[in-house]
Amino acid sequence: MTTADFPKEFTRCPTCHGTETVARKACEDEPSVEKGVFVSLGKEIVPITTPSGVIGAGVKCIIVHYDVCWKCGTRYAVKAEKAILPTKPPPVLNINPNSQFKAG
Ligand SMILES: [Zn+2]
Repeated sequence: MTTADFPKEFTRCPTCHGTETVARKACEDEPSVEKGVFVSLGKEIVPITTPSGVIGAGVKCIIVHYDVCWKCGTRYAVKAEKAILPTKPPPVLNINPNSQFKAG
């Protein structure tokens, strides 16, 4: 680990300290969702890399997952992680290479 404490999980509702969330409840009896797989209702992705700091083919991002407390309905962050998202391939420029580079 080079930086502190990512991914970070928030396992309890900040309001009632319940540990059950709507997404987990909903997936409990869902055979297509494997046990132990992380589920959430939504996520926000925030880039933390300036365009000049883009490394390789990716942009560093923070991903924060949100869910809703099963007991009291509070929406809260359940997990924060860092990730490198692939940047889109650059748009293809319609330039005829022969016009810039002479063969031979
Ligand atoms: Zn709660």
